[in-house]
Amino acid sequence: MRFIFVFWIFLLITTLFAEEGMFPLSEINKINMKQAGFEISSTEIFNTEAPSLSDAIVKLGGCTGSFISDEGLILTNHHCAFRAVQQASSPEHDYLKDGFLAGNRSEEIEAKGYTVRITQSYSDVSARVLSHLDTVKNFARRTQIIKKRIKEIVKQAEAAHPGMRAEVSEMFTGQSYVLFLYTYLKDVRMVYVPPRSIGEFGGDIDNWEWPRHNGDFSILRAYVGPDGKPADYAKENIPYHPKKYLRVNPQGVDENDFVFLLGYPGRTYRHRTASFIRYQESVRMPFVVDWYQWQIRTMLEMGKDNRAVALKYSSTIKSLANTEKNYRGKLQGLKRINLIAKKQQEETVIQQFIQENLQRSKQYGNVLSEINRIYREQENTAQHDLILSYLTRSVNAVSLARTLYKSVQERAKADLERESPYMDRNWQSTQKRTLRRLDNFYAPGDKTILMELLRRAAALPSTQRIAVLDRIFSLDQPESVWQAKVEQAYAESELFGKSFVRNAFNWTQEEVEESTDPFIKWVVALEPELKELKKQNEERSGALNALSARWAEVKRMYQKTAFIPDANGTFRLTYGHIRGYSPADAVYHFPQTTVRGILQKNTGAEPFNAPDRLLRLIGEKDFGFLASKKLGTLPVGILYDTDTTGGNSGSPVMDAKGRLVGLNFDRSFEATINDFAWNESYSRSIGVDIRYILWVIQKYAGADYLLEEMGVQR
Ligand code: ASP
Repeated sequence: MRFIFVFWIFLLITTLFAEEGMFPLSEINKINMKQAGFEISSTEIFNTEAPSLSDAIVKLGGCTGSFISDEGLILTNHHCAFRAVQQASSPEHDYLKDGFLAGNRSEEIEAKGYTVRITQSYSDVSARVLSHLDTVKNFARRTQIIKKRIKEIVKQAEAAHPGMRAEVSEMFTGQSYVLFLYTYLKDVRMVYVPPRSIGEFGGDIDNWEWPRHNGDFSILRAYVGPDGKPADYAKENIPYHPKKYLRVNPQGVDENDFVFLLGYPGRTYRHRTASFIRYQESVRMPFVVDWYQWQIRTMLEMGKDNRAVALKYSSTIKSLANTEKNYRGKLQGLKRINLIAKKQQEETVIQQFIQENLQRSKQYGNVLSEINRIYREQENTAQHDLILSYLTRSVNAVSLARTLYKSVQERAKADLERESPYMDRNWQSTQKRTLRRLDNFYAPGDKTILMELLRRAAALPSTQRIAVLDRIFSLDQPESVWQAKVEQAYAESELFGKSFVRNAFNWTQEEVEESTDPFIKWVVALEPELKELKKQNEERSGALNALSARWAEVKRMYQKTAFIPDANGTFRLTYGHIRGYSPADAVYHFPQTTVRGILQKNTGAEPFNAPDRLLRLIGEKDFGFLASKKLGTLPVGILYDTDTTGGNSGSPVMDAKGRLVGLNFDRSFEATINDFAWNESYSRSIGVDIRYILWVIQKYAGADYLLEEMGVQR
């Protein structure tokens, strides 16, 4: 009896609490593995001496992926492979709509522009980055020095490790910096992609929601040159043999089971102040939501009766919609948990703690008020700054002309003085990326977007006018006047041809400045204002960088705890359990979905239009060894309380033994706020159950050879 009681207490402790924290490599060996629920040791996860699970995890663009065979097969999300599928699709070969299966290796299609990044090692370089910076009082200068030192460290590291790429990541703002060494594989191919109506079943309506019923997965393969070294796409390349690949557990997991994820979460902002959150909540996110909604509506309208245009816009729409809904979730969540008030309370207490002691008060007394002042300043010019920055991002013609102009200016400098995309180590890929963007260029759409931004610039209050736009386009005149200028520019410009751009990359600064191309002329005229904006941002971020470091220092003193650094695109581990939650009063969500839900949700109309064959196969109930005994049918989605964010898409979900049981792809609506604050009661991540993935591959795609390659035991 006593034993049972103790056992229950133990179970309660181990199953009740998930932990906040995306643990970086340096923290993994500090986790109490057994108590957390692992049945493997930390060295089986990361080990510099022998292959470990981390060797199977890759960064794939903005997502994560994992090796699932000895022959370089990679499992990631459908939405992560989406751009590659779109690039390969045409109205005749519509792989987005119909899916794609390579019958054998020679049929695999290049995933254009995709790279696979594998983490090799890490080391702390904070002392080198920060040495003697205290004496530098000018914040813009401070930012420049930090950037330059980082570039020097990277250059040295790459020289010492030929073939590898080095990157220095800021772990704690202004405080700690880590040098990572990476291998990049550059030949990635599509192997299996389900039709969009499976991969994205439920579309935007279901995105960021639970319960989910989509098979958000795709399978790619990484190749290397015949000598085994990373190489660009070439027919004669051979499959990459990873040091480690993940083993599948086709039994999957059930409610309350322990799971953990490895991956490359993008960005979180948990250590920021209330004033930062206020800027996000009242200024930046509402602006972005509104701007993205407008663009999505416009692009959908343009592609409505034209599949070629719809295909061109499909990736952009998808990523805009993803962010737009995420921000709506965050805005709602911020209100619900009243984060600003909570942060302010915490800040008041810490401020009191500072004031209690003379020394502390001298050292930290004005840190918070300075941070707050900067965010207030930022709010005052936000509309001006945001419109100007989206002009160079949302309008392709402007963005292209700007890249050209910047490239000639930056390339004329010494390598280490240049902005990162124009440094020798990145220049080739910057050119390729720029040219690839032209594949999706659609002049009528681009023109419409530019006109709308001009309309918004014309409506700015006098304190935030963008003088140079007023001047170039005569925004004080009736709209027809600027419309005529815009029409003429798109009719005249040669900028949208690849050979023109390729040539222009070799121009001199004078040639660019004397160009008669209207967009290049505009960008040259815009440059002083953009430079001013950049300088102002550098000053602000330099000041915030130094101030945030000091704020974190005193916060840590007060709380007497160590923090986990915010996500920053570097390797992380997070763990938790398969667990339901209550998003609203009287509502409880169970943490597993099944194929029954596909039948219930299916209407036949997009985005709830599962393929007929899938519906028939579900009806036949031939789930074999993949059926869940507990659920009595085939599971589809899983929900768990790990700590994830954007970039964890494609992260493998593993059981206590480190076997693959699912594929992470999303969070619940309430958990979009994770980026600002994580909470055990509402932070839930969403994955596809491995059993659904295997079943789709086997029964729907008929690709038994892939299961064999993955070594799936029946
Ligand atoms: N859907 C996200 C991604 O694309 C995952 C997340 O934000 O939870 O990375």
